[in-house]
Amino acid sequence: MTQQVVVIGGGAVGAACALFLRRLDPTIAVTVVEPDPTLRWASSARSAASIRQQFSNELNVRLSQFGLQLLREPEAWLAVGHERVDLGFVESGYLILATGDAGAQLLRDSHAVQRAAGAPVVLLDARGLRERLPWMHGDDVALASLGLGGEGWFDGQRLAQALARKARSLGAEWHTAHVTSFDLAAGTVRALGCSDGRRVEADAFVLAAGAWSHAVGALVGLEVPVFGRRRTVFVFSCPTPLPRTPLVADPSGVWFRSEGAGFIGGWTPGEADPDPDDPPLDQPDLHQFDERVWPALAHRVPAFEALRRTGAWDGWYEVHPLDHNALVGPHPHCANLLLACGFSGHGLQHAAGVGRGIAEWVVHGSWRTLDLSPLTPARVLTGQAWVERAII
Ligand SMILES: Cc1cc2nc3c(=O)[nH]c(=O)nc-3n(C[C@H](O)[C@H](O)[C@H](O)COP(=O)(O)OP(=O)(O)OC[C@H]3O[C@@H](n4cnc5c(N)ncnc54)[C@H](O)[C@@H]3O)c2cc1C
Repeated sequence: MTQQVVVIGGGAVGAACALFLRRLDPTIAVTVVEPDPTLRWASSARSAASIRQQFSNELNVRLSQFGLQLLREPEAWLAVGHERVDLGFVESGYLILATGDAGAQLLRDSHAVQRAAGAPVVLLDARGLRERLPWMHGDDVALASLGLGGEGWFDGQRLAQALARKARSLGAEWHTAHVTSFDLAAGTVRALGCSDGRRVEADAFVLAAGAWSHAVGALVGLEVPVFGRRRTVFVFSCPTPLPRTPLVADPSGVWFRSEGAGFIGGWTPGEADPDPDDPPLDQPDLHQFDERVWPALAHRVPAFEALRRTGAWDGWYEVHPLDHNALVGPHPHCANLLLACGFSGHGLQHAAGVGRGIAEWVVHGSWRTLDLSPLTPARVLTGQAWVERAII
């Protein structure tokens, strides 16, 4: 019987694991080891913090739907006492655009999956797009998919901190240190060592160290193929007033959305573009804005020709390069090391669903509310990708 669990990493995912472990079984002692509770470098604090139901796999839709429950009813899930919880949730759809026949077919296929899962989405042709969003250039668009509800954006750092605060209120303990070593015997982790000299024994360990997961896995001699890939978020304003935009995912790889009175946007590199592992942060790639982002923005929204860039920040996508989907569940070479990492650009919206799943695995030894087995870390050994066709 599990009595003690250690969670490595206290971002949104680690905090969600701690919260749901304590909710499901208050007799389990939970310690979260996190070197920086302010989350300065954590992806959870550097995210575009948006949520969508427009995935090609039902499981990803369902994970977002659970994330949505927390955003819509934050008091029910995250309040400590009777306090108000404000996650800054703005409910606004995603708009995914496709240009060629293949892209249009992909939207149709995904649409069927999303509708079957109850997601309120519609498909629009170029004319329908013009009628709904007249400020957008859509003549080259073969098909568009628009979310009519249950999508939007929020404050990622506030979500991570609210999850941590709630987990603490339920009895989880936070320990401020780096994990620096593991005691491994006969394929089982017995304890881990921290940078302050503390040694923590446990029955199960959850690796939720985001972009650092590869480095933490190396400490125990296990392959955890999750790397930090820099993504820059650009902040800009537009002199022509526009209504609030959805989060628009353009076929060029550029995305943008409203943020307060202005906008944010960025670019996701394609397969052939350089995308090095673990580059330094706090060095936003400003050339990318002039070369990639602005031309695509001005093409899609003529008013953006006159935009003004007002800021930028960067952060690490925690990328599992095989298929850009998370690794969730026991490591194939170490059954009591549970992975919860490698989410790429959809980890905040899936933090709650994966936290709940990890808690179920620890307590029941099986997935209960959602079957997370497609995210099995056995993919590391088999090389069998779990393909999500709507990666942003
Ligand atoms: C620019 C950008 C845009 C994004 N946009 C979205 C979006 O729109 N929607 C969405 O859902 N997701 C988005 N994401 C992804 C999302 O932010 C991440 O998937 C999510 O925040 C990951 O949370 P996490 O808790 O796993 O990792 P993190 O928040 O990175 O937390 C990991 C923690 O592990 C700790 N750690 C590191 N080393 C050790 C160690 N040795 N010992 C103990 N702890 C350690 C770190 O200090 C860190 O706090 C975006 C990410 C970026 C960078």
